[in-house]
Amino acid sequence: MSSSTGPAITLRNGLKMPTVGLGMWKVSRATASDQVYQAIKAGYRLFDCACDYGNESEVGSGIARALSEGLVTRKDLFITSKLWCTYHRREHVEPAIQRTLQDLGLDYVDLYLVHFPIALKHVPIEQRYPPEWSYEVGGPVITDNVPYQETWQAMECLFDKGLAKNIGISNMPGALIYDVLTYARIKPAVLQIEVHPYLVREQLVSLAHSEGIAVTAYSSFGDTSYQEINMAPTGSEFKPLLKYELVADIAAKYAKSPAQVLLRWAVERGCAVIPKSSSPTRLRENLSLFDFALSADDVQRISALDRNLRLNDPAKYAKRAIWAS
Ligand code: NAD
Repeated sequence: MSSSTGPAITLRNGLKMPTVGLGMWKVSRATASDQVYQAIKAGYRLFDCACDYGNESEVGSGIARALSEGLVTRKDLFITSKLWCTYHRREHVEPAIQRTLQDLGLDYVDLYLVHFPIALKHVPIEQRYPPEWSYEVGGPVITDNVPYQETWQAMECLFDKGLAKNIGISNMPGALIYDVLTYARIKPAVLQIEVHPYLVREQLVSLAHSEGIAVTAYSSFGDTSYQEINMAPTGSEFKPLLKYELVADIAAKYAKSPAQVLLRWAVERGCAVIPKSSSPTRLRENLSLFDFALSADDVQRISALDRNLRLNDPAKYAKRAIWAS
């Protein structure tokens, strides 16, 4: 699988994952179907979905349209989805992926990730879907006593049954990765984490790579995605990442956009990227990362912007400090 999405990343079982995909978080149900269809036309092959994004049936209809028109075959696509926190108990894992598969109109996903390493009290699918963080709408977040090992073993069963061609982890710190590796019969293929120049995560990316776990970087544009949900820093001293002078200067040097430089910076570090965009111009722009390369020095200069700024932190919105140390 190598096309406009660049050289693919080979996962530990030999399957290939496109280096660039389209993120589906906060894509409205009204536009998701057409966005997926247009993105396939533009050359996207990987779609990063999740139960929690609440738009999987619309994503599925966009995929179905592209398949029915013969734009691509199922094998050309790489579809990622994620197990939500309320389905961590052994008996809830397969029903969760079955609902996702039904919505996507597929009989397997290429990658199924455990969205967060924290189990929440079960909300039956027929009661509320997607259930989000709170046990009851507007109520508190209630955790459930489910060890991650139980969830991972149920994920392995999905792999055995061919419902997920790869299984992986997300939002997981190093210590827990080492723990998973002690019992995993099927080791995680991918770690999906927030990575951008304000949150470089050198050690976590290196740890994953050294254990044969591919890394997908999310929120590559840093604060950009969080502005619309009032989760980005404000104040005159904060510089939005896409507007940072150094990024703009490096972009000018390579005749690329700041967004392309940020994506390419992650790619240079061996990460896959899944930028989200609804604009046809930006969709093309975000895919066009393989006709230039950043020098090692420029990668270092961008990495020096690191300020350990974590934007997607359940401590802030769900009172669960999974990154506390
Ligand atoms: P992102 O970094 O992709 O930023 C999206 C924002 O950047 C949007 O506002 C978009 O309009 C803007 N943008 C896109 N292309 C641009 C361009 N070329 N120039 C200027 N602006 C541009 O942020 P994201 O959506 O948070 O992350 C990408 C994907 O990662 C998500 O859609 C989702 O699929 C995944 N994700 C996963 C998790 C997880 O917990 N595993 C968490 C967050 C995001």
